[in-house]
Amino acid sequence: MRIDILTLFPEMCQTVMNESIIGRAQKAGKVEIVCTNIRDFSGNKHNKVDDTPYGGGMGMIMAASPIYNCYKSLYNEGEPKPHLIYMSPKGKVFDQRKAIELSKLDRVVLLCGHYEGIDQRVIDEIVDEELSIGDFVLTGGELPALTVADAVCRMLPGVLSDDICFEEESHFAGLLEYPQYTKPAVWNDREVPEVLLSGNHAKINDWRKVQSILTTLERRPDMLTEENLSEKDKKLLKKHFEKK
Ligand code: SAM
Repeated sequence: MRIDILTLFPEMCQTVMNESIIGRAQKAGKVEIVCTNIRDFSGNKHNKVDDTPYGGGMGMIMAASPIYNCYKSLYNEGEPKPHLIYMSPKGKVFDQRKAIELSKLDRVVLLCGHYEGIDQRVIDEIVDEELSIGDFVLTGGELPALTVADAVCRMLPGVLSDDICFEEESHFAGLLEYPQYTKPAVWNDREVPEVLLSGNHAKINDWRKVQSILTTLERRPDMLTEENLSEKDKKLLKKHFEKK
């Protein structure tokens, strides 16, 4: 898969993407992440990419042409148009389901706005969808684009050591993850739950499932539906409450 990030701050994006798991995934050829500077397509000698808003008002607006030309430079005439996502607080809120959906595409382009946003005409011309990372406003689209790129890359085959790494994580199957512990077995007088030391994997899996459901019920009851609880889950839950 290739992910392009169109931004005024390519070094910032590339630095983050070259670190840790995603950096290693790039080196191993599992994903290619290319950050392109929109300013290189300003078309004027002062490299200006923004201007004042028509109708008046505060701040500056990113002009249409540099963004359009930057995007067009990414693919040749006749090639399929890459899926272009504009990172925007007005977009649909990004979630795990979307990360999985995007990870199945060959190519995704993430467009980062800045200042007061970008000229609506270029959005209408080239943007396929708008994604937000939450109901708040940041100064630029870089952190949102990095968030999306990271979440999508983790879903690509071979990026994590094993698919089980993300299949049991929060949100993958509509539940939050169970609590995790590591050595030592006793820390500050707090003990690791006994079942995790038992070596009985069936029991451990059942305990983790119950904890996962209970955590979801407590913190995000909106996520729990009939669909993400199997008959076995319901029985485990019943047993858990009967024991109490
Ligand atoms: N004036 C815009 C509005 O009220 O919707 C906000 C512009 S914001 C200061 C500048 C840029 O940051 C946006 O163009 C967008 O690319 C990015 N951005 C800010 N908050 C975001 C969010 N929650 N999700 C995704 N992108 C965001």
